[in-house]
Amino acid sequence: MANDVDVVIIGAGSAGLSAAKAAAASGLTFTVVEASHRIGGRAYTEEFAQGQPFDLGCHWMHSASLNPFVAIADQHGFSYRKDNEWNQPIHNAGSWIGEDERAAVQALSEANDKAIAAAAAQGRDCAVADVVDLEDPWAAFHAYWFSLGVSRDIDQSGVVDVCAYNDTNENWPVTEGYGALVAAWAADVPVTLNAPVKRIRLTAGGVEVVTSQGTIKGRTALVTVSSNVLSSGRIIFEPGLPDWKSNAARKLPLGVHNRIGVMLDDNPLAGSDRENATVMLEDDEVPLALEVGPYGYSYVVGVTGGRFGSWLERAGQQASVEYLVERMKAVWGNDIAKHVTDRVIVTAWEGDPWTLGSYSAATPGNAHQRAELARPIDGRIFFAGEATSSEFFSTCHGAYLTGIRAANEIAELLGGNR
Ligand SMILES: Cc1cc2nc3c(=O)[nH]c(=O)nc-3n(C[C@H](O)[C@H](O)[C@H](O)COP(=O)(O)OP(=O)(O)OC[C@H]3O[C@@H](n4cnc5c(N)ncnc54)[C@H](O)[C@@H]3O)c2cc1C
Repeated sequence: MANDVDVVIIGAGSAGLSAAKAAAASGLTFTVVEASHRIGGRAYTEEFAQGQPFDLGCHWMHSASLNPFVAIADQHGFSYRKDNEWNQPIHNAGSWIGEDERAAVQALSEANDKAIAAAAAQGRDCAVADVVDLEDPWAAFHAYWFSLGVSRDIDQSGVVDVCAYNDTNENWPVTEGYGALVAAWAADVPVTLNAPVKRIRLTAGGVEVVTSQGTIKGRTALVTVSSNVLSSGRIIFEPGLPDWKSNAARKLPLGVHNRIGVMLDDNPLAGSDRENATVMLEDDEVPLALEVGPYGYSYVVGVTGGRFGSWLERAGQQASVEYLVERMKAVWGNDIAKHVTDRVIVTAWEGDPWTLGSYSAATPGNAHQRAELARPIDGRIFFAGEATSSEFFSTCHGAYLTGIRAANEIAELLGGNR
């Protein structure tokens, strides 16, 4: 680990990695220390089998026309689908729903969006659940999709934060994996792995960062860990974090979004136009969105969010797989279960000690805390990471942009290109 550097960067997710590149471009010296055995953080791709990548974290390049990872994907030869519309068939209580019901789902979604925007425009930062229609027959369906987008439930999320997100409605999935893309882009960044930071001390000359592999001195530190890690107290600050900072981290908690992947021996639905479904076994049940054989791969993926995702994560891997297979059978018939293999990847982001959740959502009345979370302490401890983004929070490119922002703040302070 380089010592006596301009900036000690804590965390090698999208934010820490972009900060390292921006620091290098400004002529700053730096060290990146990462707790886990790999880079990428919540951007992480594994292979089910050779040539079958599966994203455990981010997968969609959101707001694609404003997303720097689109150009990075082009540079690194990654492909992506240009999806703009989400038009999944819906399977409810034993059958596919028809056009009239689809129109009702769409109408509810539009009415709810309007109600959320109206409350936010009036500066009434209430919970989403306070303004959406909870009596509509499709309320549970809407709440489920909201929980996937935000990772927390409608009663836990404030309307102003929801509306602050800069959404161009272009969500482009990376075929070879968004995590693989981040790893390829950042392969040239020197990172010390397996080096969890335990303490950050302010000293007369700057900072001392105590890791499991030794202590590093720096003029500044850049903290990019998730808001849940920050508020967990796993990193001890000396002196302690000021109240305004720990309060900001607590008011921007990460919720849960998990992905359940199950490998099939082949895809019996290949070529059908019904490979995707949002499934409810009964009215009002928490739905599950399923994709069978995305991009011609042979696996099924189901996604959960919010409190339900948290509950299923704690129920464990086997319970998650059984939950998904039951819903596959309900939609495509019992025979589909014959194709299910024992190769599974089930994420558990809430239990991951280095993230403690999936992505941040401001609690009602707390959208302004993102700016507080981004604010440096004493001109020496800086902050980046998705939760500090004012318009692209919860995303990989949002994290990337905050890393550059924080590295530039440090370069300005110390005088870049020295
Ligand atoms: C299931 C899921 C689906 C998602 N889908 C999308 C999507 O489709 N599109 C999208 O844009 N975004 C998506 N996201 C969100 C996106 O992945 C994150 O917002 C982004 O990757 C966060 O980057 P970050 O650098 O802020 O934080 P992280 O990636 O969490 O990086 C922080 C790093 O700090 C490390 N760390 C923690 N504690 C310590 C310590 N004590 N010492 C040293 N290092 C430490 C961690 O190991 C981690 O590597 C998804 C996330 C999840 C979980």
